[in-house]
Amino acid sequence: MAKLKKLLKQHVLWVGFLAVLGPLLIILGLQYKSLVKLERTSAAARRAMLKNFLEAVATEAEYFYRTDAERVLNISPTVFTEGRLQKMAHYFKKKGCRAEKQFFLADFTRRGEPSVQFYDPLLHVMEPHCREPAIERAVKVACAPWYLLSWKRTALDSVTLEVNERDTQNRIILNPITDEASRVVGVAGMIVDVGYFKDVYLPRLIRKTLPKFFSDHEQEEVVVTVRDGTGRLIYAIPHPVEGEDDEVTVPLQFIFKDWRLGIHGRFMTTEELARRHFFINLSLSILMTMVLIGGIALALRTASREMKLSKMKTDFVSNVSHELRTPLASIRVFGEFLRLGRVAEPEKVRQYGQYIETESQRLTQLINNILDFSRIESGQKAYRFERADVTDIVSETLNLLQVRFKQDGFRVHFHPSAEPLPPVLIDPDAIARAFINLLDNAIKYSGSAREVHVRLGREKRYVTISVTDYGIGIPREEQEKIFEKFHRVTTGLVHDVKGSGLGLSIVKHIVQAHGGRIAVESEPGRGSTFTIYLPIGDGSDSAGGGH
Ligand code: ADP
Repeated sequence: MAKLKKLLKQHVLWVGFLAVLGPLLIILGLQYKSLVKLERTSAAARRAMLKNFLEAVATEAEYFYRTDAERVLNISPTVFTEGRLQKMAHYFKKKGCRAEKQFFLADFTRRGEPSVQFYDPLLHVMEPHCREPAIERAVKVACAPWYLLSWKRTALDSVTLEVNERDTQNRIILNPITDEASRVVGVAGMIVDVGYFKDVYLPRLIRKTLPKFFSDHEQEEVVVTVRDGTGRLIYAIPHPVEGEDDEVTVPLQFIFKDWRLGIHGRFMTTEELARRHFFINLSLSILMTMVLIGGIALALRTASREMKLSKMKTDFVSNVSHELRTPLASIRVFGEFLRLGRVAEPEKVRQYGQYIETESQRLTQLINNILDFSRIESGQKAYRFERADVTDIVSETLNLLQVRFKQDGFRVHFHPSAEPLPPVLIDPDAIARAFINLLDNAIKYSGSAREVHVRLGREKRYVTISVTDYGIGIPREEQEKIFEKFHRVTTGLVHDVKGSGLGLSIVKHIVQAHGGRIAVESEPGRGSTFTIYLPIGDGSDSAGGGH
């Protein structure tokens, strides 16, 4: 149990990540399922919508013709009494509209053949014959069954409009005229104007109905077709026919019953459209999930870095305290010896004085590092560049540290450049501090080896300062990280050596501020070489690459 708790604590970020990832993936799965369902239902819903649209057009057309016929053809049987017939010319003139080509009245009250009177819209009179023989024929055929009923004196249960479309060019709407005993005494009728219906009324009706069902954008993507009784396309609205066959068709009601209205997507079928929506929605969901996962990963990464950094800072405090305590303790002890006058020989006094000096040097070095670091972090680190000779700076620094090398038993070999080096634009103090840091590390991490080489040279456009030791070395995977602040190698021998983890990060900053770079070559167990590259020139050109 305790083990599990420890494991959870160690991997708290991963546990958090998985705890969010799991539900997210489940939600994505559910979303996918509901999108699949939606794809099916949205296709069905769209088909239903297309059908509703066509039915609305058909119903409106029926309503228009039915009310028009009812308005005009509801005629009383007294019309057939003597002298009234010609008055009907006035009636038809008043009531007529553009939907009909011709009105007529058939009188079955006389003996013999039924007498049919046509309203002549040009002369405004009732005539026994029609200008178009085809109309006359169609009317006679349409009236025949009614005449038969009249002849049989059959009483009608109810009076309803009848449509006769046997002659498709002369479609007739009839209304039987009945007496008080509900017997047919005649027929009032009208011949529908096919041209008006086809070219004016129906296209206008379709265009008027489209916006009630489709947005402007959707109207661009549908095609409404009108086909006659033979299936021939009469026209397509609002675009010429494009795309597939009609997806939904509906026959017209009441009149033009042999015609069919149809509709289909201009570029895509309903199924393709639903599929497209499905993919768009799915892609958006996946994108959103990915963004979320990315965001969480980023947040966790930052948290993990912060945690690492906070641990490093804690280590830093304890390491620095230790580093401060050691030289201070030595200084105190040697100081005490001298104060108590326990040391008589002048040689010893000198030696103790040297110890105190080198320990104070170490303290100064550590405090300089901490101050440098805090200035770098707050962006206040300033450099004072001047043209200087690197050889001078390096040899002076080595001289200063001679005593310490000696105390620690180190032999430091200095190899100046074979050819004279050009002066470079640098901050001599900063470069000396960077160099001291490298020397300090070479000594700290030398293990049992007691040899350090310092080389100066020139490589293309750079002056190089390299420090080589034969100590513990650095594993390859750590070689980049050691330049990060607070980072200390936590494997192998390095455990025993105390340090702040700041030195190399400061070196890197100083060198980069000079437009140079720092490189490391190292092999664990064999030693390391750190090389500072300083650009020859005005110092403004950046070296790039490296660390
Ligand atoms: P510090 O030495 O105070 O720990 P640095 O930033 O100077 O901090 O160095 C970072 C780490 O790099 C060290 O902790 C050590 O593990 C490793 N390191 C630096 N220089 C050497 C070297 N010459 N040989 C082996 N390891 C080194």
